[in-house]
Amino acid sequence: MRILITGAAGFLGSHLCDRLLAEGHEVIGMDNFITGNPQNLAHLAGNKRFTFYEHDVSNYIFVPGKVDAVLHFASPASPNPKSPRAYFNLPIQTMKAGALGTHNTLGVAKAHGAKYMLASTSEIYGDPLEHPQKETYPGNVDPIGPRAVYDEAKRFAEALTMAYHRTHGVDTRIVRIFNTYGPRMDLEDGRALPNFLKQALLGQPLTVYGDGSQTRSFCYVDDLIEGIVRLLYSDEHLPVNLGNPHEMTILEFAEAINRITGNKAGVVFLPDARSERDPQRRQPDITRARTILGWEPKISLEEGIRRTIPYFKKQMGLE
Ligand code: NAD
Ligand code: UDP
Repeated sequence: MRILITGAAGFLGSHLCDRLLAEGHEVIGMDNFITGNPQNLAHLAGNKRFTFYEHDVSNYIFVPGKVDAVLHFASPASPNPKSPRAYFNLPIQTMKAGALGTHNTLGVAKAHGAKYMLASTSEIYGDPLEHPQKETYPGNVDPIGPRAVYDEAKRFAEALTMAYHRTHGVDTRIVRIFNTYGPRMDLEDGRALPNFLKQALLGQPLTVYGDGSQTRSFCYVDDLIEGIVRLLYSDEHLPVNLGNPHEMTILEFAEAINRITGNKAGVVFLPDARSERDPQRRQPDITRARTILGWEPKISLEEGIRRTIPYFKKQMGLE
């Protein structure tokens, strides 16, 4: 296939480029570097099956030649207001990537008769009242709350994707991604894993926001990419959750990172400096992915952290 990947210079997009090239496909990467990093694609320079366009997906997209699949991953994705690259600080760009970018990429898929995949998110469930979250749960989102620019853009994107499927017969897929980590994450984007792993490698206490009782589950990137590829090759049009169902509190997560890295500095509790509406519990129900895709994560937190450490050390100049 000849596959267009938006957000190609980002964390997930760059791993997707690698995986789909390794499967023998031709990949067209597109990114405007608003939160991504050209370094994530540097190793693909000279690859004859890879081309790259620096382009903002909020604007009309023209891709010469045929396109067999479009994977729309372009969007700011970090929730931490302290990071300049967080969606809190890029509110209009985030809404445009989710709304106009989804419209433009669906237009490309429609024009080329291509398969389409939208990268959606667990954030469409908001601060969930159902636990764990099944795909049938419609969510608990405040349309004007602090996270709305991201959550509502993705909810609009899902609605538009289903509208193109139902109205124009576009062969669409929606992946609802839960917290994922691994090499090529932005060390400065303020998410829990980059903060904690950086702090642990520097021998500093880990900054737990609030009392650390809020829960998440963390999926290693290779597991996630495997699920995404299986979904791309499937015929499933309804949303599919992909993430690790192993739920833990943020305090347990911090302690696990300290244990794995041998950091003795412990944790420090900070007031919840983030927005209100930090979801209190989050855990994917992955029954649909298990049933339809035969997929579940295989890589333990310990193994995933070990695989991530060399990248962090290199970025931090520690080796
Ligand atoms: P990222 O910031 O590393 O990658 C996003 C990429 O999109 C960046 O390279 C950025 O420059 C690019 N981009 C943003 N707006 C653009 C625009 N208008 N035009 C062109 N390029 C643009 O983030 P990520 O973690 O790799 O996330 C990728 C996708 O997966 C996002 O859509 C995000 O919402 C979704 N997602 C990620 C996670 C996660 O845990 N990483 C969880 C849920 C959903
Ligand atoms: N968090 C924390 N310390 C940090 C960064 C994040 O305690 O240094 C918490 C944050 O409040 C949230 C959880 O870790 O409850 C996961 O945050 P992240 O930014 O990774 O992603 P989210 O799941 O909120 O999208």
